[in-house]
Order: sequence, then C-alpha cells, then structure tokens
Amino acid sequence: MTMWVYGFGDGAAEGSAAMRELLGGKGAGLAEMSNLGLPVPPGFTITTEVCTAYYANGHAMPEDLDGQIADALGRVEAIVGARFGDADAPLLVSVRSGGRASMPGMMDTILNLGLNDRTVESLTRRGGDARFAYDSYRRFIQMYGNVVLGVAHHEFEDLIEAHKDRRGVTLDTELEADDWRALVEGFKDLVARRTDEAFPEDVGDQLKGAIGAVFGSWMNQRAMTYRRLHDIPESWGTAVNVQAMVFGNMGDDCATGVAFTRNPSTGENAVFGEFLVNAQGEDVVAGIRTPQPLTLAAKQADGATKPAMEEAMAEVYGQLVDVIGRLENHYRDMQDIEFTVQRGKLWMLQTRAGKRTAAASVRIAVEMAREGLIDRPTAVCRVDPASLDQLLHPGLDPDAPRTVLTRGLPASPGAASGVVAFHANEAEDLAAQGKAVILVRVETSPEDIHGMHAARGILTSRGGMTSHAAVVARGMGRPCVAGSGALRIDYGAGMFSVGGHDVKAGDVITIDGASGEVMLGEVPTVQPELSDDFKVLMDWADEVRELGVRANADTPADALAARNFGAEGIGLCRTEHMFFNAERIVAMREMILADDTAARSAALERILPMQREDFAELFRIMAGRPVTIRLLDPPLNEFLPHSDAELGEIAKVTGVDLDTLRHRAGRLREVNPMLGHRGCRLGISYPEIYDMQARAIFEAAAMVADELNQTVTPEIMIPLIATRRELDILKERIIAIAGAVEDERGVKLSFLVGTMIELPRAALRAGDIAGSAEFFSFGTNDLTQTTFGISRDDSASFLETYQRLGILECDPFVSIDVAGVGELVEIAIERGRATRPDLKLGICGEHGGDPDSIHFCQRVGLDYVSCSPFRVPVARLAAAQAAVKSKN
Ligand code: ADP
Ligand code: MG
Ligand code: MG
Repeated sequence: MTMWVYGFGDGAAEGSAAMRELLGGKGAGLAEMSNLGLPVPPGFTITTEVCTAYYANGHAMPEDLDGQIADALGRVEAIVGARFGDADAPLLVSVRSGGRASMPGMMDTILNLGLNDRTVESLTRRGGDARFAYDSYRRFIQMYGNVVLGVAHHEFEDLIEAHKDRRGVTLDTELEADDWRALVEGFKDLVARRTDEAFPEDVGDQLKGAIGAVFGSWMNQRAMTYRRLHDIPESWGTAVNVQAMVFGNMGDDCATGVAFTRNPSTGENAVFGEFLVNAQGEDVVAGIRTPQPLTLAAKQADGATKPAMEEAMAEVYGQLVDVIGRLENHYRDMQDIEFTVQRGKLWMLQTRAGKRTAAASVRIAVEMAREGLIDRPTAVCRVDPASLDQLLHPGLDPDAPRTVLTRGLPASPGAASGVVAFHANEAEDLAAQGKAVILVRVETSPEDIHGMHAARGILTSRGGMTSHAAVVARGMGRPCVAGSGALRIDYGAGMFSVGGHDVKAGDVITIDGASGEVMLGEVPTVQPELSDDFKVLMDWADEVRELGVRANADTPADALAARNFGAEGIGLCRTEHMFFNAERIVAMREMILADDTAARSAALERILPMQREDFAELFRIMAGRPVTIRLLDPPLNEFLPHSDAELGEIAKVTGVDLDTLRHRAGRLREVNPMLGHRGCRLGISYPEIYDMQARAIFEAAAMVADELNQTVTPEIMIPLIATRRELDILKERIIAIAGAVEDERGVKLSFLVGTMIELPRAALRAGDIAGSAEFFSFGTNDLTQTTFGISRDDSASFLETYQRLGILECDPFVSIDVAGVGELVEIAIERGRATRPDLKLGICGEHGGDPDSIHFCQRVGLDYVSCSPFRVPVARLAAAQAAVKSKN
C-alpha cells in the first residue's frame, strides 16, 4: 500500500526533513519541527506523489486516499481533543500548499476550515467572544470563496467597505460581532450568486474542495509561469498540508508573526522580524495594520512607538528566541520562521532557509563557519555565485523614488545614470567633458566600442542576453539593458520615445542592468563596498578550488581589474580592438588594400611599436603570470573602409586613386563574414599580420622579462583552426620569428603556441592538432555558433520561443550545451590528451564565467576557465563549489 499521507504533531512525525521531495518544503519542515519536540499544531501532509498521480490519472485521486485522510484526521482530533464538524468542540484546520521549492505562484492558504453555521457558535463559546468567531468565519468564507470557488477577492472587500460606510466607521477593527455576522450572510449570498450554489456547510465537502483546489492550482497560469521562470519541473508536484488551527486573534494575549534567525539584509547575527497582537495569518504581511518589531533593538533603531514583542510578551519572546536558536543550530542555516501565540502559548507554523541579500549570504556563511556551525567548504557553497553581481556593481538606492519608462533584458548588472547619447563619438566627446553618458543604440557593433567604453551604461532596443552590447558590456563591467523592444529610436531626430515619453539626446536617464528597468532622470546609486567577509570567503574558495581562473583582458585597465578580482593570468587577450584605434585602422586598411607584400609590410611596420607597447603593458601588470594572446581574429569585413571619407584617407597616404581602392574594397566584401575570411585564414592569406604580432609579442616579452628580472611566457593562440596544416604553417613562422628576436636581442625566449578549439572539425581532429598545439583553449562562443549553425547575433529572434517551447532548456550562448557542444569538448580533450598528455586546457568563451558551465569544466577536467574581469570572483566561487561537489 502506498503511503499517501504523513502525520505530524505531539512531539513526533512520520516524515522528516530528509523527505522534502515527498512532503514538500513546508511539510518536511513541520515534520522536522515536530520530531524536535517543538510546539507544532498537529496535522498531516498529503504527498507530492498524490499530485503527480492525480495528473497522471486524468484528474482522479488515488482510491485509498480518502481512507488515509480520514485516519490521519482522526489522529489529529485525538491529539487536539476536538472533532471536525462537531457542534460542541469543533476542530478547525488550515489547508496549505507546499512544493519542494517555495513557489509564490501557488495557491493561497485557507484558514479556519471546518466553520459553518453550527460550529461557529461553539467557537464563540470556546473563544468567549462572538466577534472573534464571526471574524474567523467571514475570513474562511472569503478565502475559500476566492481560492476554491473563484469569487474575486475585491468583491468581498467591497461588501466590507459598504458595510463600514453604512456604520460610519473606517477601520475593520471598529466592526463588532453583529457586523461580522451580517457580513457572513452577505458573503454567503455573494458566493451563491456567483457560483449558483450555496456555500458548503458540510465540513467534509469543504476539506475535499480545498485539497482539490491545491492540486488544481499546480496547473494554474501563475504557477506555470513561475515554474518556467525558475526552472522548476512540472513533474515535482505539490504537497498539501492540513493542520489544526491555532488562533492569534483571540485577544491581546494572542499574536502572529515572522522571525528570521539573522538579519536577512545585512546578515547580522540578531533575531529579526515582526509581529501583530490579536491577528491571524497573513495580517502581518497584508499591510492592513503596521506590524511591530520583535526586538527592543529594532524598535529603537526604527524609532517605532508600539512595544516590541521583547517587552510586550517577554516570556513568550524568550521561548521564541530559544526555539528559533535551536532551529538554526539544527538546520545549520539561517531560518525564516512563522509563529502564532494563542493565549500566551507559542506555536510554530513554518520554518525554512531564509532568503537573503548577497551581502547577508556572505556574512552569514563566514560567521557560521567561524562559529563552528558549518565547515569552510560548506560556507563556500552557501553563496550563490550569480548573486555576487549585486556586490560588485553599484546598485540603485532602494529608497529612492523612480519613474520607470520601460523594461528590457537585464544584460549586464549594475545601475547607471547619465545623459543620453545616440552615437559612439558623441558619447566619447561628452565623457571627455566629464559628463556621465548612457549610450542608446538600436544595437551596437564593434565600431561603437570606444563609445561603450566612454559610457556609464548602455541601452539597446534590439538584441538578446548575448548580443554584442550585452557581451561587451559585461566584459567591461558596464551596466547594460538590452533588447528593450518598446523603445522607438529615431537617430535622425536625436530622440527616442516610449510609453508617451519623448527623451532627447542630452536628457538624463537611469538604467538598472540587474532588473532591466529604464528610468527617467537620475536615480541615486550606492557604491558597493567589498566587505572583509567577502575577501575571507573568496580566500576559502581559493583553498578548495581546483580549476584555475584567468580573465579575458584586452587592455591594461582590464588587466588591472582582473588582478584586483584575483585572476591568475590572462586566458584571452583579443588583439582586434588594438587595431580599431583611429591611427591604427588607417594602417590596417592600407595593408588590406595594398597590392603587394612590400606595401603591406610597410603599413604594418607602423603598427608594430604600438602593438609591442600594448603587450608590454599587459606583461608588466601580470608580472610573470600566464598571458594568452590570440592573434588577430575578426572578419576582414570589419576593417574595410565604409565611406568615401575613409577611402579618401587611404588614398591620401598611399597615393592610390579612389576608384581603384573602392574597387579593391568591393572585391573583399563578404556575404557571410562570420563564416568568411577571418581567424587564422586571415593569417594564412596575410602572413605579415601574424608575423608582426608575433614579433611585437616576443620583443615585449624580452623587454619586460629584463625589466622584471623574471621569465615572461606568452601563450600565443591561433584562432579558428580547422586543420593541423593551418597551425603548422603559422607555428613555423612564429618559431622563426622567435629565433630572429632571440638572435637580435641575445636572449632566450620562453613561449607556447596553441590553438583555440572553436570549430567542430577542430574538436574532432584534436588528436592530430595536438601534435602541433601545446595548449587548447575552447572558444565556446564560436563552437556553439558552429555546432548549432546559429549566429549568436541573430539568435534573439527565435531563441526565446525555443526556450518557451522547451526545445532548448537555456540559451546555449549563456550556459554551455552540455549534450552537444559539451560532447565535442569532451572528444577534443580525450583525443588531444591521448596525443599530448600534458596538453594545457582552458576555456575562454562567455561560458567561462557561467556557474553551470564551470561545473561542466570541472567535470571534464579542464585546467582553467577564463572570463571577463568582473566575473572573476563569480568564477572563483563557482569553481570552488564545483570542486566541493566533485568530492561528494
Ligand atoms: P505561505 O506559503 O504563503 O507562507 P502558509 O501556508 O504558510 O502560506 O500560511 C499563510 C499564513 O497562515 C501564515 O501566516 C501562517 O502562519 C498562517 N497559518 C497557516 N496554518 C495555520 C494554522 N494551522 N494556524 C494558524 N495560522 C496558520
Ligand atoms: Mg502567502
Ligand atoms: Mg508561510
């Protein structure tokens, strides 16, 4: 026989905390608290398996369920000494839903179930107060009418308001027993009118209806949306808890409240919470009356006038502190607790791990480890790596008022205010004048990088979480709201409009890259201050982590940020931006449009010294730590001159006429640049470019090794290899240049030559390629594009639909597609290491900073991950958690 129902109460329970999957979070908590001997009103939990069976069997409950419920109810009746539906001593219960994961989208709780026209009379006698009894009754009809029978909540409230008007009072508390009695009749009429049936008097029908409604609510729109947003599988189901009522609304020696064992916003180790005297259930959060603080300290801090629980109910407060202390010790985590005091006696109604801010989670984890409650690896696992974003970027002052214009994707966290600029140059000019700028574009492209860099924040109307704007902004640590589709941007008029507001260039807006909100005017922000606890936690993370963590850094500023965040080297230095600088791009264009090698080399000659200084700076900052430099990668297209003015500039320096240049440029244009003349293909057809870069790297390495008196070992990385032959050709030239520099300078160079693995062919041929490559770095952005055949920049238009339909679980550009792309990575690792056992392996796509992908990296045995500087702490923490997990 399947056990569908688990009882609890009276110092014992059939379930326990370990049975969370079966009993749901609330049911497991009630069972565990009962087992601990804490005062819990008795009750029973109908398991999540009933929910699953109900949906599997065409909305039919298991046959033997009714019998098991009756038995469990009988046991509750025996403990309480009351009977369900009894006219003399009626048992009243609450019916509460509760899945494995807390789900605010689920059914609301029904309190006081078991009341009808007969039982309400005995409640009057027992409670000694008709007002209390009829207030409870009307609450029950209201909750049941709304949740089970679907009558709108406000219809009940309207009746209360009308009644108050007639009586000439303003507060619910001014209504008396007869008022509530009259309202009960009004409520029942309302329900009858709306449902064509009388409100159920039979308590058995009431219970059946409420249980059915909980299971029904598992498939309501709210719950389904919530599950989709939080990745909660439908198959989990919800449990139902039926529990004897205790009353916090029987008089002034009664109360109801919530308590946290530690402060959920700061993490301070002090009881935190609120309570209300003479109140029931949701009154505390409903905002009808202002709740009072639990502690004297909080009362003083808030300047509250009403007494704290600590003074008003000193004895019960003492018990509460004792009980929640035991709960925290037992669960070894901060708890969020619901309690009720009935006639001076404390009852526990719920306990769960409390939600907390990132700052609080760090402090609580560190302090609990110091207190000996948990060990360091556990502390490290207690903080959600993704939440660190909250700590690393300035956030909006939560108390500041704001006018929200619209919302886009929260593409890069942090908040920023500034004047609107629609063009990169304009943004740069304004920034140079010391203005804070928000760059607003339909979308961004590599040409806008300088403007993005100059801006405090970036807002686009098109593009997804991995659009150019989003990726670059995250890399730079700039807040970004992307794909804000409601914006109508008119570059010509220099303005955008949204929801009836016109915003012109120069007007001030604020964006919040953590929520996606776009706001009018300036909303004050607060700078994060990294606490000592944060540093301690990161040290502990480093103690347990096995994966190395490097940063993707292209500029000295990036490299410095990377070091500050604890990066152990540079895993990817993209050299392309170094060419987009105004001076260099002319030389580059000259080189591409040149007719012969001599003209090409002459142009590159001018770039060489600048490029050498770029690398030297990075080597200095990284002081002997590994620096992986990727040779030039972007599509040729991106270097081509676009306008006549740009062509004119080239004509002037080279003396070649405009028409010839225009013709040559036209010949180089590509239909599909992403799959075109890029990566090592550029190096193969214009070997002078890589020659120049290799020379710049070696000369810089020799120079800085001398300055620092320390070996500098650059790792030279060739992009977009598909065949070993490509790598061989390029590697040979690089080695030759190294030899030349060694001879010229009389030094011995130390360096590695390796490749990106970012094409499926390269992954499959990894055994062969490793014969030549000394390291692999998985470029999972391109590998994802080429494995799926999806262009990252165009995926926004359909990926959302794909995710909604469950074709893809998540955006494969954000979190690595373990099944497909992941298999290619595993194949490449296995074949590569078979050829070269000491092959160094890393990852340098966006995935390198994604916690889920980092778990994958740990599992397949990479040596390091590399991510944008601002994600380095996230990666350190996620890598530590992956290491802890791999040992369990
Ligand atoms: P939620 O999941 O929204 O917190 P709960 O099931 O915990 O919903 O219940 C809502 C409110 O009703 C809470 O304040 C809870 O403490 C109170 N409550 C639930 N069951 C009982 C009960 N048996 N006696 C008294 N109050 C109860
Ligand atoms: Mg609630
Ligand atoms: Mg609750």
